[in-house]
Amino acid sequence: MARSGSGRKKPNVLVTGTPGTGKTTTSSFLAEATQLRHVNVGDLVRDKNLHDGWDEQFACHVINEDLVCDELEDMMEEGGNIVDYHGCDFFPERWFDRVVVLQTENSVLYDRLSKRGYTGAKLTNNIECEIFQVLLEEAKDSYPEDIVVALRSDTIDDINRNVATLTDWVRNWCPKPE
Ligand code: ADP
Ligand code: MN
Repeated sequence: MARSGSGRKKPNVLVTGTPGTGKTTTSSFLAEATQLRHVNVGDLVRDKNLHDGWDEQFACHVINEDLVCDELEDMMEEGGNIVDYHGCDFFPERWFDRVVVLQTENSVLYDRLSKRGYTGAKLTNNIECEIFQVLLEEAKDSYPEDIVVALRSDTIDDINRNVATLTDWVRNWCPKPE
């Protein structure tokens, strides 16, 4: 059966993974290389107040998923976005042409998050999230298996290789026939 086209002239890429795995670094390099738009959902939530307050225990905003999706809908329909967020199950499946899950070795991630000032429950929860591959499972449960790709992000070389691989993919992407 022919899949109906999305109407997008440029692809949408989701870059997800546990905090600290390199989503923002990877997304900004990829945006530079491809001229796609980097959408940092965490920043958007903060700047446009797309949340229901502050979670004291985890020291983060309680994201309002409906407000975020409403805010992004037009841009996503247009295409050409790199969406950077540590969650992926609440975005509409039809938005994305590629879902990238970044993964980092536990001890490397521990150091990165400690350096970022994470301690206590926030630190251990994120390390457990990585150990149990929560984001990879979430991505596989939310999107077609053939668009989900897990990429290692331990070193700068990994970042460079991932950006090169994804840049090639974006350049070779063709709009789906209507
Ligand atoms: P995220 O957006 O997933 O939370 P960031 O891109 O902000 O992660 O990266 C967190 C920190 O870890 C930054 O200081 C960044 O420079 C570093 N970092 C991220 N990925 C890598 C990597 N693959 N190799 C080395 N350092 C990295
Ligand atoms: Mn980030």
